[in-house]
Amino acid sequence: MPCVGGIEAGGSKFVCAVGSRPDDLEVGEVPTTTPEETIKRTVEFFKTRQPVSAIGIGSFGPIDPNPASPTFGFITATPKLAWRNFNFAGAIREALGVKVAFDTDVNAAALGEFRWGAARDLGNFLYLTVGTGVGGGGMVNGRLMHGRTHPEMGHIRIPHDRELDPFAGTCPYHGDCLEGLACAPAIRARWGQAGESLPDDHQAWDLEAQYLALGIASWICTLSPQRIVLGGGVLSRKKLYPLVQSKVGELLNGYVEAPEIVPPTLGSRAGVLGAIALALAL
Ligand code: ZN
Repeated sequence: MPCVGGIEAGGSKFVCAVGSRPDDLEVGEVPTTTPEETIKRTVEFFKTRQPVSAIGIGSFGPIDPNPASPTFGFITATPKLAWRNFNFAGAIREALGVKVAFDTDVNAAALGEFRWGAARDLGNFLYLTVGTGVGGGGMVNGRLMHGRTHPEMGHIRIPHDRELDPFAGTCPYHGDCLEGLACAPAIRARWGQAGESLPDDHQAWDLEAQYLALGIASWICTLSPQRIVLGGGVLSRKKLYPLVQSKVGELLNGYVEAPEIVPPTLGSRAGVLGAIALALAL
């Protein structure tokens, strides 16, 4: 196995790794500040480790993942202004002189779960994360999902009964899209306290499961996934798994069979392992 590098670029930190599989990784972290400072420290991480033949990047977005585009490797319309229109892949390629693969953080994590985790060898699956935001990626016909740019699955519209839930939603672009209703900041804003401190029998969880199930049922009907890997900070509330699974079944109502909804098995390493897998595929 060639030794490659991986970068999971998140809004608060970069997780960097050198290796080729889950049990040989050397991992470090760099705080996300300005692009100049963060890239400098990231490059230092790789220059002080064994040489790598390629680097994979799974990045927060939106990004341009299309290798044929003049802005391939750029972070595009992010609300993090210093990073907007930043040539991320180009900066790493120039500083380290290696080939660079570039995709979204969720597609990278999906690839990690495909290669070593909960979606192993499945050509059609979804990887969803529910935390600070709601993100989705995965594969259709054995390929990571791309299009004009990449899916933004958290921003779909779902039915919102304002009598049952008058909360307006937190998305700065859409208000009550799925992310605006179901991400961790939405739970905190709706109930006046973080989800972690709400009891297991709080009505918040039934509502959360209903919103996630509405999104998942739509994706099942459009993409026909063989499995759904569902993770992120909000899913540390384990009772959500059976709740979401049963609500998805109710929504599909026997017409389409619901696939199994499972937690990721690579945990917090899914993203950086996926970035390693991106590099190995170059
Ligand atoms: Zn939105």
